[in-house]
Amino acid sequence: MIGRLGRPVLHLGRRLFDLVLPPRCKKCGALVTDDDGLCAECWSNLTFLGLPWCACCGLPFDYDVGVDAVCGACVAAPPVFSTARSALAYDDASRELILRFKHGGDETLSRLFARWMMLAGEGLMEEPSLIVPVPLHPWRRIRRRFNQSALLAADLARLTGLQSDPLSLIRVKRTPSQGGLGKAARKVNVQGAFTIDPDRRTRIAGQSILLIDDVWTSGATAEACIRACRKAGSGPVSLLTVARVL
Ligand SMILES: [Zn+2]
Ligand SMILES: [Zn+2]
Repeated sequence: MIGRLGRPVLHLGRRLFDLVLPPRCKKCGALVTDDDGLCAECWSNLTFLGLPWCACCGLPFDYDVGVDAVCGACVAAPPVFSTARSALAYDDASRELILRFKHGGDETLSRLFARWMMLAGEGLMEEPSLIVPVPLHPWRRIRRRFNQSALLAADLARLTGLQSDPLSLIRVKRTPSQGGLGKAARKVNVQGAFTIDPDRRTRIAGQSILLIDDVWTSGATAEACIRACRKAGSGPVSLLTVARVL
């Protein structure tokens, strides 16, 4: 999208490259016409989230109850985020793509996800806001070589023109993987795991923040991140993820 006009030479190079290696579906490898895309079948297997949904957390509703309607969970316990949105339901189809991105580091998948997130998160990107990715502990980042949320944040920043700040929010506690833990255990696991770098508090103070993560499972990680931002004096924090466990 953005930047394509500014990179005609690169684009031409890519076209020539495509003559040799035509674009393929990111999921199944079938030939496709568009770069960074999926074939029609893989596309139709994904569950994209959209209206009607909870005005607060983006939980899809079975039928339209008005754009301002809020789900029972958000009424019972108002979340720490101001708004949350996810592009996809986390199911077999999206899991395979996300795991490939997470463990394979396919940057073209990041661009694809960021485009979907931008659509799902329409209205969350109003300025002034800062895009902040959920950080990995430095040791885990070294092992994985990159932070998938930071890649998404960078692509979203490119698409929206907003600033991404992958440095201010840091993970200070090395927590075991959240996989296999129940909701309560996940919450305990990430308690005190995040903070704002004391040298960068001024970057966060007063800013409305868009927190980025790949998958929203129990919400415990996002909640711990949001509490760290708020403690450092941030404005409201919204959450935008590629997928959400429903
Ligand atoms: Zn496919
Ligand atoms: Zn809700």
